[in-house]
Amino acid sequence: MKGFTTKIVHNDRQDAIEHGSLHKPIHANVAYGYADAKELAAVFQGEKSGYSYGRQVNPTITALESKMTVMEDGIASVCFATGMAAIGTTMFSLLRAGDHLVSSAFLFGNTNSLFNTFDKMGIGVNFVDATSVAAVAAAVTEKTKMVFIETIANPRTQIADLQGIGKFCAQRGLVYVVDNTMTSPYLFQPKTVGASLVVNSLTKYIGGHGNALGGVVTEMGSYDWSNFTNIYPEYQRGEPQKWGITQIKKKGLRDFGASLGPEAAHHIAMGAETLALRVQRQSDNAMAMCHYLSNHPQVKKVYYPGLSEHAQHARATDLFRAYGGLFSFELQPEVDLWQFLNRLQVIVKSSNLGDNRTLAIPVAHTIYFEMGAERRASMGIDESLIRISSGIEDIRDLLADLDEAFAR
Ligand SMILES: *Cc1c(COP(=O)(O)O)cnc(C)c1O
Repeated sequence: MKGFTTKIVHNDRQDAIEHGSLHKPIHANVAYGYADAKELAAVFQGEKSGYSYGRQVNPTITALESKMTVMEDGIASVCFATGMAAIGTTMFSLLRAGDHLVSSAFLFGNTNSLFNTFDKMGIGVNFVDATSVAAVAAAVTEKTKMVFIETIANPRTQIADLQGIGKFCAQRGLVYVVDNTMTSPYLFQPKTVGASLVVNSLTKYIGGHGNALGGVVTEMGSYDWSNFTNIYPEYQRGEPQKWGITQIKKKGLRDFGASLGPEAAHHIAMGAETLALRVQRQSDNAMAMCHYLSNHPQVKKVYYPGLSEHAQHARATDLFRAYGGLFSFELQPEVDLWQFLNRLQVIVKSSNLGDNRTLAIPVAHTIYFEMGAERRASMGIDESLIRISSGIEDIRDLLADLDEAFAR
């Protein structure tokens, strides 16, 4: 069995590419011509594998999907235009009005917004403290079909009881969806804790360069969809382990049409080759900055799973290869948030995460502004909280930048 990076770097060569190209080319193409009309019909009827129309299939996307399946150790993947499109389409293709979903309360803000929309469309949602499986179990009703969990929560870095929830979902026959964006398949493979479906935003660590949006969902092969009542008869063909991803692709991607473009797929595939190198360096940089900050008199609190005082430090050590590139911290009340941020010269004031550049954002005033002070307080978001996504710069430059911003 080859290692993680070896498999990614050589995956395109599994299928012979024209002229021996080492990269899968960008197929800027929408439709596919057939010499034999019967073959065209067979492809449309699913009797024969082949390319029909660009909204659902494109060879450049297929190559990236194959790479993602290998990275997550799954059985099939479907790519989307963004991470949000992957989450939204997955849920809309598998759930129906009257169903119920249990979700972690420590959730990416836009996913939180999407799930609140579900509530208005007749799909009930309960948000729970997923750091303990007991909270998930308490929220499950006879209508519950699915549990949705993130690995490391942004921005406060809580870590869900990934293993406990996996066991619980297996016992109860629930579909277990894990958003692996924060850890990426390099740090953690949700298959190891019993995930049914794994979602990744390709925009973040996997693409890694802040130059393309994308999302993906991967089927793990562990869920028996013949026990799931929402699969349409036309997708109940072949192995029941693949019915879920088939419905997401054939129905969801077709109906909603949030398809990944071939140029973006190419950028993401290039980025994915160095995932392990980048995330290891970002984790090392994050750890060094957190050690510096947690010893600094102007810092009140640092949130990072790599610190021994983090509430789920032992869980992170047990499950993840390293602690990742994301952390947050609160300033002491006498420190001016804006002055501190504006003195940073190397670290960029920006949203996004997983970029090669280190990025800083004042959480309460930007990405969590819309939800209001009360909800922020209930989620433990202090007004001075700064989220950092560490990049791959030389660590001494990052530490010097922080030091100069605190000075005076
Ligand atoms: C960014 C993000 C998403 C959404 O991804 P986009 O590609 O920006 O749509 C989903 N989940 C998590 C955890 C994220 O950080």
